[in-house]
Amino acid sequence: MARRLLHIRDLHVRFDVYGGTLKVLNGVNLHLDEGEKVGLVGETGCGKTTTAKSILRILPMPPAKITGGEILLGKDDILKMGIRQLRELHSHGISMIFQDPTASLNPVFTIGDQLTDTIRYSTVEQKLTKRETKKRAVSALSDVSLPDPVRILENYPIQLSGGMRQRICIAMALASRSRLLIADEPTTSLDVTIQAQVLKLLGRLVEEKDTSTILITHSLGVVREWTQRVYVMYAGQMVETAPTKELFHSPFHPYTKGLMKAVPKLTGEGVALGISGRIPDYLNPPTGCRFHPRCPHVMDVCRKERPPYFVAGDTHEVACFLYREK
Ligand code: SF4
Repeated sequence: MARRLLHIRDLHVRFDVYGGTLKVLNGVNLHLDEGEKVGLVGETGCGKTTTAKSILRILPMPPAKITGGEILLGKDDILKMGIRQLRELHSHGISMIFQDPTASLNPVFTIGDQLTDTIRYSTVEQKLTKRETKKRAVSALSDVSLPDPVRILENYPIQLSGGMRQRICIAMALASRSRLLIADEPTTSLDVTIQAQVLKLLGRLVEEKDTSTILITHSLGVVREWTQRVYVMYAGQMVETAPTKELFHSPFHPYTKGLMKAVPKLTGEGVALGISGRIPDYLNPPTGCRFHPRCPHVMDVCRKERPPYFVAGDTHEVACFLYREK
């Protein structure tokens, strides 16, 4: 049986802003086993990136404040780590690929400087020589199928295309040989043909290196192809989780169903329907089920009480009172 790598329990995150307190994460639960590939889906603004940044402890504090919960990596609670443990966590515990490769790379340093720095940082104990570090950098660039890696090490980010920059960010994330990779919309800023290439590449690499991965994305197609299990997130809460095949075969939560109906079909049949309304205001989120103002099946209880997780199968859970009725 696979060992549990990451376990987030009842995580609460607030942001203190001029107008008051934004209650952004409201009791987030998530777990991931070693070697598992998990997808995290939901609309923009539902808390996916805040969850990822909380795992890495890189939320700007203030304005952010983690007000409750725990994030266990193995047996260690990330929220209780001191500076030295955090440094170790960032050097070879968890890596992250961010949405925008241009903003992720420093424009005034060459790719070689940035990549060798990452490798040195994550292999401090091995005391690699300059030559060995460069060899690893060349090999990391070859792994992501970049032509002429020796020349690319001399380049500045501006001399490379968006697709090449994102491949470099992937190379950096995987070069540190972390236990967990978080890929936050890794292809959002790329054009469609490059998106497919980069995702295919990332999929091959995490498979080869058997890296546990959380893939954050808007794209249900990508999640279906790429992951073993999916979390659906809405307004700072996980509303449904299930093995990927099962979720696509029988989604339960009205929000999950809405997301699926919103995907345009390649055949051109039917009309892609959006979900009416929008993500709630985090200053004054709705009481009870946070989805109730948009839900076509809303009941009285939904306005008053937060739905607990109902078990809908061995590994399928849904936070919706409709399931209680079944
Ligand atoms: Fe809709 Fe109620 Fe289920 Fe929330 S709990 S999704 S409002 S039916």
